[in-house]
Amino acid sequence: MMTLDQLNAGSTADFVRALDGTYEHSPWIAERAAAFRPFKTVSALKVALARVVREAPQDEQLGLIRAHPELAGKAAVAGDLTAESTNEQSKAGLTACTPEEFEKLQRLNARYNERFGFPFILAVRGPRGTGFTRQEIIDTFERRSRAHPDLERAECLRQIHRIAEIRLNDKFGVRPLLGEQLWDWAKELATHSENIEWLTCTYATPQHTAVAEQLMAWMHECGFDDVSRDAVGNVVSVYNGTGDQRLLTGSHYDTVRRAGRFDGRLGIFVPMLVVRELHRAGKRLPFGIEVVGFSEEEGQRYAATFLASTALAAKFDPRWLDQRDEQGISLGDAMRAAGLPGTMESIRPLKRDPKRYLGFVEVHIEQGPVLDSLDLPLGIVTSINGSRRYTGEIVGLASHAGTTPMGQRRDAAAGVAELILFTEARAASVPDVVATVGMLEVPSGSINVIPGRCRFSLDLRATTDEARDALDADVLAKLAEICQRRGLSFTLQPTLAANAAPSDATWQSRWEAAVAELGLPIHRLPSGAGHDAMKMHELLPQAMLFVRGGNGGISHNPLESVTVDDAELAVATFQRLIAAIAAS
Ligand SMILES: [Zn+2]
Repeated sequence: MMTLDQLNAGSTADFVRALDGTYEHSPWIAERAAAFRPFKTVSALKVALARVVREAPQDEQLGLIRAHPELAGKAAVAGDLTAESTNEQSKAGLTACTPEEFEKLQRLNARYNERFGFPFILAVRGPRGTGFTRQEIIDTFERRSRAHPDLERAECLRQIHRIAEIRLNDKFGVRPLLGEQLWDWAKELATHSENIEWLTCTYATPQHTAVAEQLMAWMHECGFDDVSRDAVGNVVSVYNGTGDQRLLTGSHYDTVRRAGRFDGRLGIFVPMLVVRELHRAGKRLPFGIEVVGFSEEEGQRYAATFLASTALAAKFDPRWLDQRDEQGISLGDAMRAAGLPGTMESIRPLKRDPKRYLGFVEVHIEQGPVLDSLDLPLGIVTSINGSRRYTGEIVGLASHAGTTPMGQRRDAAAGVAELILFTEARAASVPDVVATVGMLEVPSGSINVIPGRCRFSLDLRATTDEARDALDADVLAKLAEICQRRGLSFTLQPTLAANAAPSDATWQSRWEAAVAELGLPIHRLPSGAGHDAMKMHELLPQAMLFVRGGNGGISHNPLESVTVDDAELAVATFQRLIAAIAAS
């Protein structure tokens, strides 16, 4: 088995020879990566190799893609593949295709090649490392055949890096056991779903309670001293330290409808594994670790979101207990049906005393494309975006599309269109500000009628409240100006306002130091999505760690994906974080 020390110490030629076969027929990658030595960890080596490819000219990137064989293609049948490819394709069962499957793959290969000009690349051993099924491979092939060529080229390169990662693991004898455990927990927890086909786990349903019970059982197995479910359904577990103070951490276990497996849950599993390893080693820290599986974050069943973290921050609004879901069941009744008291008397005591805690940290899947596009497994969150949302309507005059001259129109949709383009340009002009019109509707519109009404939504977000408010003011002023000029009127209802939650500088730098200890580049980014840390921010200093999501970072979707290797790195980072606090 190869060691990292040998790789770091040898000549460039030794280095290239040792990494032979990691990237298919492309020794130039190792040649250039040799300059980045020494590598602290195998993960650092992987990131450096990916960086070489990312920074290479496009023709070299295409050359790398084209150096790969087709899946179950002619070369595979003729036995002309490299040893690595043969091993992978046969492990994925591609050498045991039925004639129908084989024929289908050939058709897909031909169509794909014609469309993109390079072969379809998929790391057939997948995010778990044990392999996709043939059906999953065919489904992925069909889905990606419809992608835009630029996106597909980038995806092929990322698949090549995943192939290289698994080959390097084999070379170094690396096995991400903690990441594998996390992945298997996520898979098993996802079997508790309100929907057979997709993962859906909304607040206080029987499936939601089943998830809480499963989490508690695993927490007991991990060696926590105290495991319980509180009055809002949070699963709370404590691993005692030698001192009284605790580090608070966790994330949510409820999901959106048709969700991914890692959103929220990853941030519960990571500290569970950290504690399991501490317990196995018989170690106690100077501080306790309190892990909270927050019962509600997504706001799916009830309008109020962050029910769970809000309770810890003493911001739970008593009126929420009367909110009703689509079936007309009040929140209080839903809580009681799930075995919770459903009273403010039981919820009020959940308030945490900040003096007892060092701070709050949360690990979460990025839910965006940034880390995936940079080939980085981890990112450090600088701030959770503040936001404002509105629903609005512009009212003009519905009139005949043929008889109304252009100068005499009051087109409500054209007014909204102008607002959308302004909003896009205004947001793009400032870093880390985003704005979206996600809903757009001409009520009972008709092909030959000028739109008399147009409904729209506005979602404005920024890393600071000042930047958000400036964006908000500009967009609202523009809306008024457009309507004035075009002879239109408008209504606008605010539906949400949340303040930005900048990361605590000390905690953020602790995450950074932990990532650096693994030899990985530090990449800072804002969180565009809201998280439990946003509510805990009102109580404690907080900072978040992001983990790369596969498939372009897609989330709130069954395609959401985290590799076992990235999950392992998240656990390793958390371990270094607590070790550093313990030492200080
Ligand atoms: Zn989440």
